[in-house]
Amino acid sequence: MSLTLSEKAKSVKPSSTLAITAKAKEMKANNIDVVGFGAGEPDFNTPDNICEAAIDAIKNGFTKYTPASGTNELKEAICKKFETFNGLKYTPSQIVISNGGKHGLSNVFDAILNPGDEVIIPAPYWLSYPEMVKLSDGVPVIITGSKEQGYKVTAEQIRNAVTDKTKALVLNTPSNPTGMIYTREELEAIAAVAVEKDFYVVSDEMYEYLTYAGEKHISIASLNDEIYKRTITCSGVSKSYAMTGWRIGYTASSVEIAKLMGAMQSHATSNPNSIAQKATLEALNGPQDQVMLMCKEFDERRKYMYERVCNMPLLSCIEPKGAFYVFIDISATFGKKYKDTVITTAADFADIFLNDYAVAVVPCADFGFADHIRLSYAISKEQIAKGMDRLEKFLAELK
Ligand SMILES: *Cc1c(COP(=O)(O)O)cnc(C)c1O
Repeated sequence: MSLTLSEKAKSVKPSSTLAITAKAKEMKANNIDVVGFGAGEPDFNTPDNICEAAIDAIKNGFTKYTPASGTNELKEAICKKFETFNGLKYTPSQIVISNGGKHGLSNVFDAILNPGDEVIIPAPYWLSYPEMVKLSDGVPVIITGSKEQGYKVTAEQIRNAVTDKTKALVLNTPSNPTGMIYTREELEAIAAVAVEKDFYVVSDEMYEYLTYAGEKHISIASLNDEIYKRTITCSGVSKSYAMTGWRIGYTASSVEIAKLMGAMQSHATSNPNSIAQKATLEALNGPQDQVMLMCKEFDERRKYMYERVCNMPLLSCIEPKGAFYVFIDISATFGKKYKDTVITTAADFADIFLNDYAVAVVPCADFGFADHIRLSYAISKEQIAKGMDRLEKFLAELK
């Protein structure tokens, strides 16, 4: 016997976005005027009607265990939302409600992967996908959506990455970190490959409500019956309803997969928080005007930030159409000197910018794009303006 630890656990990288946010918070606590572009969450408070529903739940004693995969009333509300917003028909037996969207995704990989199964992940990707796949004993296979391709992968690239071990493709639209949205035509081509080669599509649609410039979110599962059967549609209320702390996410899949996920969840965590489920019920069934307002505000910030970045030297970016991030190519700063330091990576850039200009941005090596940074516009316009001014100053110092 020995006191060794799990090799699998040791192979996991801690989330670098959370690390940067933590460092910025620490600087703030020391009275430094930090601008935080790192945050992956809305700055808005959860709308009042949703909070009231939670308070009512507590007062009414809705504080006990619920069914492990969530209450039937919430599953019904989720089905209704899928039908009206996504054009997707699901029954409550196909829905699993989890402790946040991340937990839902992690359940999905646990339910479908056997050791050695490959999961195709398009880069730039949300940094948790490869780690989650590894935790579920799968093998991440990375393909790249270059800047020239609008950071999106083509059906052809996916086809070329398929092997006899391919079990699934992860699709994230609107995308974190790029803000890109797949069009119906692109999704149709990808769906055709998934059906032909017979693998699952894990469709992460966490930002489905946050689309701008006339763009509309399309769920790949809604395209036809064959792709519907192979898709696990994943979403949640964290981003759309400013409910990150409540920890409610959900998935829609075949009844068979839902049963597996429910069974695992019944042993791992039991039900998601009962009070948060009542709050989510109100979020989905209640008035949607707050969502519209938040979306409108995000859109204004998006336009402002994108325009500022476009007018800066050494930076280049594609207009984001969804989520709340601007994804910036900073490769033109590599080899430039700031004081005595030569910038060679996005991490160097982010480090100097945080230490000397008190602005937190996310270097994207962990998102599969080492020469890009991600800026979130989920902060106030005043803060964005201040951060953009500092960015301009910083760039002017590079020689
Ligand atoms: C934030 C996020 C999630 C999950 O959010 P939770 O806080 O776990 O509900 C899932 N996918 C992407 C791409 C995200 O950015």
